[in-house]
Amino acid sequence: MSDSGRPRPGGLADRLAAVQRGITAAVAAAGRDPEEVTTIVVTKFQPVSLLEELAALGVRDFGESRHQEAQGKAAALQDPGLTWHFVGQVQGKKARQVRAYADVIHSVDRTSLVDALGSDESVVDCFVQVNLTDDPARGGVAPGELHGLVEHVLDTAGVRLLGLMAVAPIGAEPRRAFARVRELGETVQQLAPHARYLSMGMSADYAEAISEGATHLRIGTAITGNRPVSG
Ligand SMILES: *Cc1c(COP(=O)(O)O)cnc(C)c1O
Repeated sequence: MSDSGRPRPGGLADRLAAVQRGITAAVAAAGRDPEEVTTIVVTKFQPVSLLEELAALGVRDFGESRHQEAQGKAAALQDPGLTWHFVGQVQGKKARQVRAYADVIHSVDRTSLVDALGSDESVVDCFVQVNLTDDPARGGVAPGELHGLVEHVLDTAGVRLLGLMAVAPIGAEPRRAFARVRELGETVQQLAPHARYLSMGMSADYAEAISEGATHLRIGTAITGNRPVSG
């Protein structure tokens, strides 16, 4: 029998399996139910062929952060069984186009964007992104402005709030950062009990995120390998 169909050691299937084992172990260590945790493979800068390989390996949730690239990939894969997550900053004037292919937008961070995403015809799921740094360029709403933004989402037709999204600040203890997001999420649930999801945890810190209640992991390079340099 030929073994050409076997995964290449260190290849994509191996990396995916290794991360899935890591997630399973962290979920068990936290005493959580694996059904609560969705793994999104972040494929920004990666070619369509890599997304096709991942889909063939059973990946159903893809994360992208650049509008044109994401739009092209969603059109190229044309698989209604896939869920597209937009995790990058959304330009107001591109909001309606992002909404057309994205099932979930993880980066809602200002009222003008909520207005641009609103609709009387369809509903898009979204996370409000919280900025845990003092640098506004990193995206996300400042914790002090979170409740105002959440109320605006709740008052807007066509956007359904799932919960909060965050990136652990560089150099900070990730578990602390994720605990803060969990606590902020608890305050949001007082306004919106259904908004109980937390999008947090990347390649380097998903185990800590799982310990603090992450429900949506956004994992790129640990699965895909390094990103090709763009341009
Ligand atoms: C790129 C990206 C990720 C994935 O990062 P890795 O370190 O490659 O796992 C997750 N979230 C966001 C918002 C990203 O831009």
